[in-house]
Amino acid sequence: MKVGILGGGQLARMLALAGHPLGLRFAVIDPAPDGCAFAVAEPLCGAWNDRELLDRLARGADVVTCEFENVPVESLRYLAERVPTYPPPEAQAAKRDRLREKQLFDELGIPTAAYAAVSSPEELREAVARLGLPLVLKTRSHGYDGKGQRVLRRQEEVSSAARELGAPMIAEQFIPFLREVSIVAVRGRNGQTAYYPLAENVHTHGILFTSRCRPADPLEAPARDYARRLLDRLDYAGVLAIEFFDVGGRLLANEFAPRVHNTGHWTIEGAETSQFENHLRAILGWPLGATCPVGLAAMVNCIGGLPEREPLLELNGAHLHFYGKQPRPGRKVGHVTVRSNSEPELESVFGRVVALVRRQAHDVRPAELQRPPEAAPRQVQLR
Ligand code: AMP
Repeated sequence: MKVGILGGGQLARMLALAGHPLGLRFAVIDPAPDGCAFAVAEPLCGAWNDRELLDRLARGADVVTCEFENVPVESLRYLAERVPTYPPPEAQAAKRDRLREKQLFDELGIPTAAYAAVSSPEELREAVARLGLPLVLKTRSHGYDGKGQRVLRRQEEVSSAARELGAPMIAEQFIPFLREVSIVAVRGRNGQTAYYPLAENVHTHGILFTSRCRPADPLEAPARDYARRLLDRLDYAGVLAIEFFDVGGRLLANEFAPRVHNTGHWTIEGAETSQFENHLRAILGWPLGATCPVGLAAMVNCIGGLPEREPLLELNGAHLHFYGKQPRPGRKVGHVTVRSNSEPELESVFGRVVALVRRQAHDVRPAELQRPPEAAPRQVQLR
């Protein structure tokens, strides 16, 4: 059986690596000739909307999936008319626009930060009047890993943002969260669902740096409930993740990802069945695998550069995943999972991995991102 994937980055690569032992073969479309999944799949290099490539994929694959949410929805719909395509293109369509995404959360009763659509200087001033400062201004589409967003703290910054407004934006109240958590969930073609434990995540400059599996977290129950609402509403098949802010023990959804997710990479070594294998099982209509954790696990992203391999290999419980990508500032080029049966051992190895990874990281990003707000934020409006 063959699985077609739109997108040839590390997520496609890890899907293929999980699928080979199940007897699956893969074909991958990506415009970049050096897509790192091409090493483990049939490479189809070309534009997302190249009809000839899409036809080849539709003819050759038993099922098609997507590792990247910025693939044109028209290409997904074109494929869906010819070959089973999961997650459904409408899930991608809802995700592509941050405003539609927030409206979907509203419709499902999933709380979010207060927000406003902003496409003119007047709308930005109205948003500031209603939401207060600081606020986070994000492009409605094509933003990820902190790209396309800035924090506005002072009136001068609002004025300059108003002058520079281009693409349609969304303004969100800045949330002084206790921590960021995410849930990775999976739904099969028959509606069967399963959930991994919550992951607790640390971002630096808008990019995920570490993620730790937190079994039995008190917020797991509401996170599961919100994920189930979204999965059912989208008649979803595959893995889906929701990222949340924990505000005083209450969850506010920040965004969802209709695909396997970076905060689920720990599942490769840390869960009975990885998110990658479960995504494949789900889209193929196969039984889902158990999502329970196997011991304790945490993950560290390598951003902008790879750490030295040998000192990491000396650490018991550290598992390396180097993606074969050219290092660039802010680019995810690998990750390291730490797995252990003892909390003190996990802490000690995790600390050493973080230090080794930091030494090589060149995660340079726009300076305006993530500076902590100087003024105490106004009281958070919960929606
Ligand atoms: P996003 O691109 O929406 O995933 O945002 C990237 C990161 O920026 C998040 O993981 C948060 O650390 C931070 N962030 C995004 N939106 C907000 C917000 N409304 N309040 C505070 N921090 C935010």
